[in-house]
This record gives sequence, C-alpha cells and structure tokens, in this order.
Amino acid sequence: MRTFSAKSLALLLCLLLRSHASAQTPFSGTPAIEQSLNKLTVLGSVLMIAAHPDDENTAILAYYARGRHMRTAYLSLTRGEGGQNLIGPEQGDLLGLIRSQELLAARRIDGAEQFFTRAIDFGYSKTPEETFEKWGRERILSDVVWVIRRFRPDVVILRFSGTPRDGHGHHQVSAILGKEAFFAAADRSRFPEQLKYVEPWKARRLLFNTFSFTRDQEKEAAAVPGRIEVDTGAFNPVLGVSYSQIAGMSRSMHRSQGMGVSQRPGPTRQFLVPVAGDPPSKDAFDGIDTSWDRVPGGADIGRILEEAVRTFVPDHPERTIPLLVKAHPLIAALHDPWAVAKLRELNEAVALCAGLWLDADADTYAVVPGGTLDINYTALNRSQFPLALDSLTLEGMGSDSRTGAHHAALEPNQPVNAHLKFTVPAGEPYSQPFWLREPKHGDTYTISDQRLIGLPEDPPLLALHFAIEAGGVSLDLVRPVRHRYIDRVEGEQERALVVVPRVALNLPQDVVLFPNGSARKVEIEVSAQVPKVSGDVRLALDSGWSADPVSRAFSQAEAGLEQPLTFDVKPAPGPDPPAWLRGVARVGDREIGVGMQVISHPPLPPLTVFPPAVVKLVRANVQVTAHKVGYVMGAGDEMPDAIRQLGCAVTLLTPSDLEQRDLSEFDVIVTGVRAYNTRADLRANLPRLLDYVRNGGTLIDQYNVTDRNLVPMGPYPFTVSHARVSVEEAPVAFTNLGNPLLSKPNEITQKDFEGWVQERGLYFASEWDPKYQTVLESHDPGEKPLAGGMLYTRYGKGVYIFSGYSWFRQLPAGVAGAYRLFANMLSAK
Ligand SMILES: [Zn+2]
Repeated sequence: MRTFSAKSLALLLCLLLRSHASAQTPFSGTPAIEQSLNKLTVLGSVLMIAAHPDDENTAILAYYARGRHMRTAYLSLTRGEGGQNLIGPEQGDLLGLIRSQELLAARRIDGAEQFFTRAIDFGYSKTPEETFEKWGRERILSDVVWVIRRFRPDVVILRFSGTPRDGHGHHQVSAILGKEAFFAAADRSRFPEQLKYVEPWKARRLLFNTFSFTRDQEKEAAAVPGRIEVDTGAFNPVLGVSYSQIAGMSRSMHRSQGMGVSQRPGPTRQFLVPVAGDPPSKDAFDGIDTSWDRVPGGADIGRILEEAVRTFVPDHPERTIPLLVKAHPLIAALHDPWAVAKLRELNEAVALCAGLWLDADADTYAVVPGGTLDINYTALNRSQFPLALDSLTLEGMGSDSRTGAHHAALEPNQPVNAHLKFTVPAGEPYSQPFWLREPKHGDTYTISDQRLIGLPEDPPLLALHFAIEAGGVSLDLVRPVRHRYIDRVEGEQERALVVVPRVALNLPQDVVLFPNGSARKVEIEVSAQVPKVSGDVRLALDSGWSADPVSRAFSQAEAGLEQPLTFDVKPAPGPDPPAWLRGVARVGDREIGVGMQVISHPPLPPLTVFPPAVVKLVRANVQVTAHKVGYVMGAGDEMPDAIRQLGCAVTLLTPSDLEQRDLSEFDVIVTGVRAYNTRADLRANLPRLLDYVRNGGTLIDQYNVTDRNLVPMGPYPFTVSHARVSVEEAPVAFTNLGNPLLSKPNEITQKDFEGWVQERGLYFASEWDPKYQTVLESHDPGEKPLAGGMLYTRYGKGVYIFSGYSWFRQLPAGVAGAYRLFANMLSAK
C-alpha cells in the first residue's frame, strides 16, 4: 500500500471534517466526554447506503456510532428533492436543501456523519433502468466509489436488496450501485482520476440490513444463511436511553416528511445478511481489528487512551488531560488517515475535559464582497488545568493568515477576548450552496470541484484556528466564525456567515403566463442588503420580446428596504417555446443578476440561497371562463398563484369559510393536493361542498393519498389507489372526445401533453361509479392503461372533477398545455 502525502490527506480530511466542527449533540457534560474518550480507542468504521433522506436505519447508525463508538456514516444518493413538503411551500432544490439540514440535525443526535451523491430525486421511479437513464450509471457509481474511498469503511451496509422487492427504482439502484462500488472502490483502474486525492479502498464486508413487510418475507429472511442479529434496543446507561430511542429522536428531525416517531424502549431486533466480502459469524466486525493495533506504531497509543477511559473521573475530567496530551505527539507522528481523524477528535476531547469555550463571533452574518467583518473571539478555560492561547489563524475566503495574536495564559474561568478585522475579498462569490452553483446535468448536480462531491453542506466560509497549548503540546481547535445574537423569544441564536450581493433582485413569480398577445406587468423587487445603495435595473429578454421602460433607477437609504419596480413586458407574436427574462441590476461598476431567499424552519438553521433573477415567460393561447376561484389549501402547493396567472381571482378558503360562507359566489372551488388527508374541516364540510355543486358550482379535487384520513370524495363513490404514471413523457390517449374538458374553451391536442415535468400523475382512481365519465388514459411503459386519472360527472346543476394528474407540478413549472387543460377544468359547466 502506498503511503499518503500527509499534506494532501490533511487537506482532504480537513474539508471533510470541518463541516462538523460546530456539530452539537444532545449529549453534554459527562455523557459527551464518555462518548468522545471511548471513540478515541476505536478505529472501526461503517457506512450505510440508501437512496433518500428517511431510508436510513437510524437505530443501526446510533448503535454503531454511540454504542460501539465506530466512525459511522449514511450515504443518501439524493437529498430528497422530489418528495412532498409538510412544513412549507418549498419544492425541488429548496426542499433538497431543507432535507440536507434535517439529515444533519438527525446525525447530530445519532452520532453519524452524512454524505450525498450528485443524484437528484426526480420523483417516483418504477424501475432501476429509468433511474439509471436519468442519472447516468457511471456518474453516480463514481460518487459512491468516491465516498467509500474517502470514508474508508470496514463494513458497508445496504438498506435495500437491489431487486424489485425494494419498490422505488431509486431504492433498487442504491443497492445495485452499492454492490458495484464495493468492488470498484478497491480497483485502481476504476475512476483513476479520483486517485489524485484518495487511495483505492477495500472494505472488508458488504451486508444487507433486511426488512420484512410480511410474515412470509420474515420467514424467508430468517432462513438466509449467515444472518446476524443486532439488538438496537440495548440500553446505554451513560446516555440513559437505548439506541432505538436515540433513533426515535433522530428520526423526528425529518420534519418536512412528517417522520415524527415514538421512542419506544425495549428490545428491537435488526438483521444483517452477508452480501459480499468474508461473511461474519456473529458480529458485523468479526475478524476486523478495530483497536489501535491496526495502525503500525499504534499499540502504545491504544494503551494510553484505554487508560484515559479507565481512569476518567466525572467530577474531575481535567485529570484525564495529561494522558490525552501524552498520546498527542505519538498520533501526530503517524502517517495514516486514522491519525488525522483521531488527532482532531483528541483535541476536541481535551477541550471537553477542560470545559474549554472557544468562540468566533462576527458583528453581522451577512457581508458583501469587499465588506469588512469585526470578529470578536473568546477563549475560556473552565478548568484548573493550565492552558494557554498561543496563536490564531483565520482560514477561508482566500485567507490563511496568522493573525496578530499574542501568547496568553488561560486562567481558570477568566475569558481572554479581543477583536480582529477581516476584509472579504472583492471577488468573493455569493454563498450559494455548492451543488446549486452550476447548471444541472439532467437529473444530477454539476460540481466541478471533486473535493466537494459527497459533502452534505458547504464548509464554513471562515473558520478560526485556535492554537491551544496544553502540557507542552499545541492543539489545533477550529471554530467557524458565526454571528451570535439574542432573540427576545428564542434566546441566544447563531447564524452562519453568508456573502450577499449589495442588492438582491427578487421576482415574485418563477413563471409568467401570457394567455394572449397582450403585454403584462412584471414586477421586480430590489432589496437592499447594505445602506445607501443606488443604481438601475434592466430586463434582458429573448428576441421578439420587449420591455417598457428599458430600465428603471432605484435608490435606498437603509439595508432591508424593498423597492418594487414594474415593467410592461410584451410577448413575441405567436405561441413560441418558452422565453426567459433576466433581471440585471447595476450598482457602480458591478452587475448583479441574483435574488436572495432565506428559508426559515426552526429549529433548522436559516438557509440562504441566491436564485438567478430569471423568469420563464410562457406564451400560450389559453381561455378561461371562470372568474372567482375558491382554493382549499392542503399539504401545500403553488396552485393559487398559477391560477391567478390565468386572470382568475383566487380566495384561500379558511375553516370558517367552509363552514359558513356562502360558497355560491365562487365559479369554481379547487381543493389542494392532499387537502382531504390534511384538513379535518374539509372532511367535515364535504356535504356543504356537494350542495354547492348541486346548486351549480364546479368542484375540482386533486390527488390525495390513500390513508386513514381519506374520506370518500365526490358525489358518487370512487376508490383512490396507488396507481401512478411516473414517466412524464408517457403517451396520453383521449378516450372521450365528446367530453367538454377536451374542447371547451380550449381545443386540447397531443401538443398539450408535451414538456411535462417529473410525472404524469399519481394516486389515480382504480374503481368508480358508472356515473363518472373518464376522459384520458395513460400508463408507464409496459403497464396497463390507467383511466382513473381524470373523472368527470355532472351532479345537480354543477360539475364534479377528480384529477390525479400532477397539475401542482406542471402549472408552477409553466407547462403551457397543462394550463390549457386546467383552464378547461376551471371553466367546466
Ligand atoms: Zn426512499
């Protein structure tokens, strides 16, 4: 085996580990020290692989990380962009950003690390073939190989089998690629470009963490030879909980998917079956040396650190420091990836034992390129062990400079603090998450810097290295520079630094529909991020389109102010392919073409993104006869804005509206996605809605999932099923040409089914009363035609429509044909 260049290795691990520097666990004091001392003695690692946030077996992660003190990680192929969001309107990229943070929050509890590939969750996929086609098999395989080579697991655990039994194509692919990567990671000839940074890695064994949905499957699983068992219900007396309980807390962090679960104590049997490598007999780590003996020259270190564990006194953690300090130079002298990781853990263990508080607090969280930060740093030794602050080094934003710090003794409980100034380079880019910086490559992210691939989030923009002297050795302790502030309700809060533009251009809409040839007003909001900023904004348009005026000036005295600028945009003649409008602000000699959005879902940290100031312009011929639309928002969707684009007035209906308001003022009432699943008031007022239809109204129900909350919808019975059409290009047949939905007022043609995104539809009806007419038929390749995606019936003087076609995706994406068909639904009489 080749030896590592200590420098390149240190660089890589630094990138890897820095993002966890601020990780706070729910465990502090003695449990935290016990965890960290024990972990120092264990040199074993395990990587779990699956497809989505929430696929991971958190109990297994917690058991290995917190119980066995292994370096433990979860590789999720995707960030979960394609799912539904239960806590807000964010979809796609933004939902992926939220889920990434939810996973990190979960990992802080279960003690594991988190990785991702470049794959995007594009929605439900029925087959691995479709998934491979969208992602590119080699591309995602290379990422799994990269994470294995970088993390160097002894044991790899697959969450899925790689067969149709897993269901979702992404699930199958995670296991197929996991198996392939297990071998490819060890092969120098595979992905040799990665060897600039990492060495090939041969994990010892590959296991499959089985799951059984039925009794038969459980019987079958029990018969698999070589199956081993893990009891994640085992109690950890130091932490005061079992690993399954930790898993319950961790899993409840998946708030956007509503994964809140109980923390049930007691035994929980989990099973692992061998897939490749040498099979275990009883334990996943059978035959793997997870002690310091596995590193040449490590035996002495192991003895010292075991003594540290053995002699640890909770009342006097500082008494453990001399042993840690004794091990420090021995570890530092080793040339092994384990040494880099363990040295960092050891430094943090000393900090825990000394109650050492290190902080780097900037005067603001948002700074512009060329701006300055005033950083207040503090070092506080809360023990009797003699420590000193030797030097400080700022790292990040092009800086790697030692600051003018002085040697200062850290007297017990006496803070040492001072200020330092930092000027952000003029060319510093805005802090867009690294995977969103470059245009996507189909359903994968483009990430040019190989070293960033796999990371869950950006490393901190700026970090302060404290060189702390303890017992004659210098410990490098890194803290991200953050902004700390007091919220009168929430108490002390902190925010990560972000580099922001001087002004942000926010466009209230992603899509502007031009239902005919007339000009429409487009508004751009200029939001100042610094005081005293002025300039002008112009619209860059595709040829044939024009804006009046060409540009508008703005001037703002204070940061945080917003100024709306309105332009009349006139479309190119004739329905063309969608065009694009780009907003460009000029401030001094700088051009700015981005907006800024802060996503706030406490307790997750606020997340800042800089979407390009771009709007899709859709020129379509759409007529609609409905004027007043009532909308019953369900799980959250962007349909009300989309319907307003058609020129309708949309009112969001509240529980009291549903109960008391005279609904006859509405031409049509639309229920949002999963409205019957999520709103008890809607379920309770179904009879009023049916009366509304009987008296001449139109009611449109979108998809709802089959769950215990779902009541029978519509005036006549029909059954909602799991049937879906997940291929967005799947042909759609018109089976009922006489139905008004296909002709009034817009004549629907096959062209209207072009350019759809993500899927055709989901949770179609499987059986229905003969009083319903079906209108369309569609199906995934090789499957039976599904007619239950659109049901239509007249009831009394009105019309009822159920549709599982995914309007909530198509309309916000600006699919012209979907607008035309939905306009017909709104206009149905
Ligand atoms: Zn999944």
